Amino acid sequence: MADDIPFDRKFEAVPGRAEAVTPLVRRVLAPNPGPFTFTGTCSYILGRGEVAIVDPGPDDAAHVEALLAAVQGERVTHILLTHTHRDHSGALEALKARTGAPTYAQGPHRAARPLHEGEANTLDAAADRGFFPDVALADGAAIEGAGWRLEALATPGHAANHMAFVLAQDGLIFVGDHVMAWATTVVAPPDGSMSDYMESLRRLQARPEPLYLPGHGGPVREGPAFVGRYIRHRVARETAILRALSRGPMSIPEIVRAIYIGLDPRLNEAAGLSTLAHLEDLAARGEVLTEGPATLDGVFTLA
Ligand SMILES: [Zn+2]
Repeated sequence: MADDIPFDRKFEAVPGRAEAVTPLVRRVLAPNPGPFTFTGTCSYILGRGEVAIVDPGPDDAAHVEALLAAVQGERVTHILLTHTHRDHSGALEALKARTGAPTYAQGPHRAARPLHEGEANTLDAAADRGFFPDVALADGAAIEGAGWRLEALATPGHAANHMAFVLAQDGLIFVGDHVMAWATTVVAPPDGSMSDYMESLRRLQARPEPLYLPGHGGPVREGPAFVGRYIRHRVARETAILRALSRGPMSIPEIVRAIYIGLDPRLNEAAGLSTLAHLEDLAARGEVLTEGPATLDGVFTLA
């Protein structure tokens, strides 16, 4: 289904080792590989001498030590968080305690809309509800350090409080989990929203920066064109859902079986949630009907 996107799964980074990505940016891979995290979370170090850390990564002592070793002799002045999923924020408290640096993020975790009963999901369980930033960033906020300046870009969709950070001087964007080179992003209600996600993709596509540094996997080059493929991929999935529903009313498991061929069973729940995200968006646009709010155990028909 995702053959329409030229995924790049070659990513040779070694956990714990600081590697230069650009003259101003280093990357340290965390040792938390998995079906959602690929080879692990990428933490980034921005600047030289006085540095920012973008996404501390998972709660893993070895990763915290690797980050601190990478910045030995330097001062950490900022800790930035793209969104409140634990694979990005778990190391934040330890890093803050060891460096004294203030934390910057859009805000605490929040579901995009109230949870419906029975809608809690694995990805929602990964949410870090205990995090509150020292500095809450509004869309467009500037964050300045020694020799660098970032612009905060609200990019909800994967998470309601997701932000990307634009380093215009280097033509790059720290994109968190919004866009990745190796797979499509998980958009799972209730914190995830397909309507928001599509809007955030179009927002990114309209920007000039070519290089994206994601929270998992290697860089995305020619970012705006890649995002165009992402958008077309989602539209194709939406079309597949509508085509399946043209045969009659269907439940989410039935739709998943009809449109995901050869799915890794570990991703079954994510596929169901992604389908729910599309159905919510389609219902909001009046193209699909269901009884009450769209839920995982609902039955859906064409409008
Ligand atoms: Zn995430």
